[in-house]
Amino acid sequence: MIPFFDLKKQYESIKAEIDGATRRVYASGWFILGPETEAFENEFAEYIGVKHGIGVNSGTDALHLAIRALGIGAGDEVITVPNTAVATIAAIEMAGATPVLCDVRADSMNMDADSFAAAITPKTRAVIPVHLFGQAAELDAIIGIARQYRLAVIEDCAQAHGATYQGQRVGSFGDVACFSFYPTKNLGAYGDGGAVVTNDARLAERVKLLRQYGWRARYESEISGVNSRLDELQAALLRVKLKHLDAWNAARRERAALYTELLPNIRVASPVEMRYGEHVYHLYVVQCDEAQGASREYLAAFLKEREIGTAVQYPTPIHLQLAYQHLARAGSLPVSEKLAREILSLPLYPELPLTDVRTVADAIREFEA
Ligand SMILES: *Cc1c(COP(=O)(O)O)cnc(C)c1O
Repeated sequence: MIPFFDLKKQYESIKAEIDGATRRVYASGWFILGPETEAFENEFAEYIGVKHGIGVNSGTDALHLAIRALGIGAGDEVITVPNTAVATIAAIEMAGATPVLCDVRADSMNMDADSFAAAITPKTRAVIPVHLFGQAAELDAIIGIARQYRLAVIEDCAQAHGATYQGQRVGSFGDVACFSFYPTKNLGAYGDGGAVVTNDARLAERVKLLRQYGWRARYESEISGVNSRLDELQAALLRVKLKHLDAWNAARRERAALYTELLPNIRVASPVEMRYGEHVYHLYVVQCDEAQGASREYLAAFLKEREIGTAVQYPTPIHLQLAYQHLARAGSLPVSEKLAREILSLPLYPELPLTDVRTVADAIREFEA
């Protein structure tokens, strides 16, 4: 039995550190926005290579508050991709703005810069490239276009903690970047959590105000805000886990490289690692070529019979979901639509035994035969 992922193994490997941090928070008697949160914010910003970090209660809220802090709202358009967590779209709507979708590239599965440029209108205020599955989007081209049209760049780094683009960590390129610490992410809390990072002191201050009712001083709202705080327990646990992130990402890369080496790549294609950066393999996503008769559903069932877990991120592009059919016509974002039909995520996490990678690869070789 090879599960799609297993978070219990990670806890076992760092149990003493996690339990120590938990007890430290319980004994402190301080649970919301305190020394652990402040320390984590500084440590995480330093890790990404930016000046400011602000802990919030989810990746969705990180995006929502970043958009609001930029002064974007009703009547403004924000461009992003249809192959993302619905959270990206929900966050744009929470800020009162209008999501606009552009297509992705077939190789990186990330935002296509030409499609982004074509989606710009006089109402466009920002672009959200999503670094999907752990790999950076084509930042040079996207940021170049954004600067030309004076659009803000908001990086959605929810799947790419530690990934690099031309040697520098993602999250340090845009005007602002947003991270999720949902438990299954490369850096995951034991509950919900998120962070906004930026080099812009004014923007950082606005996010800080927004996350707690617009308070600069307690009970004095300077602007209208929300409750979106990172708690001390999650911050303390994230501080422990941040120290292991590079080693975990290296373990993910080792397992991904072994899959890529072992898969026969006939009708089921390995993911493409772009030359411009280091992929951190939040997910290892293969693509079944429908035109050659490789059905994703059949491969998933074939692996399930062999007790190998798989998943599909994401089975339905945003604009083909009931709530969002008004955003784009079916057929208008063909690369995203084809990917949604053909992709399958294989088991991959830092503690996955290499022998399990070999077992999965053997099963796919049998499928290909
Ligand atoms: C997980 C995720 C989010 C949302 O994060 P939450 O912490 O679950 O709110 C946003 N964008 C992408 C691409 C994600 O994968």
